[in-house]
Amino acid sequence: MNWEDFARWGRRIADWGAAYHKGLRNRPVRAQVKPGDLLARLPQSPPETGEPMDAIFADFENLVLPGMTHWQHPRFFAYFPANAAPPSVLAEYIVSTMAAQCMLWQTSPAATEMETRMLDWLRQAVGLPDTFAGVIQDSASSATLAAVLTMREKALGWEGNRQGLFDQPRLRIYASGEVHTSVDRAMWVSGIGQDNLIRIQVEGQRRGMKPDALRAAINSDLKAGFKPAGIILSTGGTSVGGSDDVAAIVEVAQEFGLYTHLDAAWAGAAMIVPEFRDLWQGVDGVDSMVFNPHKWLGAQFDCSAHFLKNPDDLVRTLAIRPEYLKTHGHDGMINYSEWSVPLGRRFRALKLWFLIRSYGLEDLRQRIRNHVTWSKTLAERLRKEPDFEIVTEPVLSLFSFRYTPQGATDLDSLNQHLVDAINDDGRIYLTQTIFEGKKAIRFQVGQFDCTEADVSTAFDVITEIARALETQ
Ligand SMILES: *Cc1c(COP(=O)(O)O)cnc(C)c1O
Repeated sequence: MNWEDFARWGRRIADWGAAYHKGLRNRPVRAQVKPGDLLARLPQSPPETGEPMDAIFADFENLVLPGMTHWQHPRFFAYFPANAAPPSVLAEYIVSTMAAQCMLWQTSPAATEMETRMLDWLRQAVGLPDTFAGVIQDSASSATLAAVLTMREKALGWEGNRQGLFDQPRLRIYASGEVHTSVDRAMWVSGIGQDNLIRIQVEGQRRGMKPDALRAAINSDLKAGFKPAGIILSTGGTSVGGSDDVAAIVEVAQEFGLYTHLDAAWAGAAMIVPEFRDLWQGVDGVDSMVFNPHKWLGAQFDCSAHFLKNPDDLVRTLAIRPEYLKTHGHDGMINYSEWSVPLGRRFRALKLWFLIRSYGLEDLRQRIRNHVTWSKTLAERLRKEPDFEIVTEPVLSLFSFRYTPQGATDLDSLNQHLVDAINDDGRIYLTQTIFEGKKAIRFQVGQFDCTEADVSTAFDVITEIARALETQ
């Protein structure tokens, strides 16, 4: 393809993109295909000669599109939002076109300096003090891994990378059962091991760790000769929004000199709204915190904002400087590849710049406020229905419910049937979870084009499909 054709196709795809978004309400949210459908229609071997772009694009529309679940659908209420607001998509187009590698300051000075400034904008936007510095990681999972590696190195006097874990004291990390599975995987990958992730009992509707139980667990590990290395906190857990009392847990961490990392991957974006900040009150005290602008804030995946009170600890854990990466004459510049596990990095800060300038913080706040209000309204409407119950109260825009018609015996399978029937119907998309041993249906509002009417439609679809199930 030459660059003239690129320009022509770029215009065509921009038109396609706008029409796609405008027509989303007419498509089922979740793909309505069977496993293997696309695979059966794709040629087994690659072509030996090039094909025209017309044919490729037609096949994209006919073969690929029906197999897509539409995360940008205004009635996507499953998992978590993954917004890609239009200015962020445009920035990504520019970034892919230039395709710069941004691992060192000198490999793309503007990308590094933009990242520094954008993370500082985000820091101010969520109300963190200026003692925090930020870096963009590819995902919250990577930020959590980087934090666990930092815990490991600090606890081992910076000898883990060199000596490995053989013959070292056995490290311990503490978290509630509400944290994301990325914490388990960080335990595996860091070599600390799943058995050394100690689950602390939670209390209350917030489902935060009991500070006394945490203290007791650390003391008993110390007595047994283990080496406590850190604590992982949650604000807005994935299942039902479980949130630690950050101030109380940080106090325990400080008693024992433990490193703390807070995972606010989903809920962190809502902290741009000052009245929601109670949820992570005490956040100033953590050592490390991650939230995903690629979820609720509107920046295209991938874009995780990782904030550190002392970036030197992270750099001491991850920096490696072979001769070919040395930047002679540029000492003192930030090289963000030293702040993350992968070396290569894309210019991800540009989409934040486009996004935040294009909307302004007040517009972004209002969207999130609306989502929270609409979600709470829906929870109240379902609560009033005699055959529905609210299982977990709204945490920001996330709550869970159950269909409990009189006389039903196996509520778990009934509710799974309900989720499946709703998703087969296609007007909305929901997912399930297990809460205290029982199946519950999650509901979260967060898609950028979602309106109050879409949330109201969700009420109609849920009640209509549930009651149709009952009569079968
Ligand atoms: C989505 C989510 C994650 C995982 O985020 P990635 O960026 O996909 O790694 C981790 N923790 C929480 C609380 C989440 O909501």
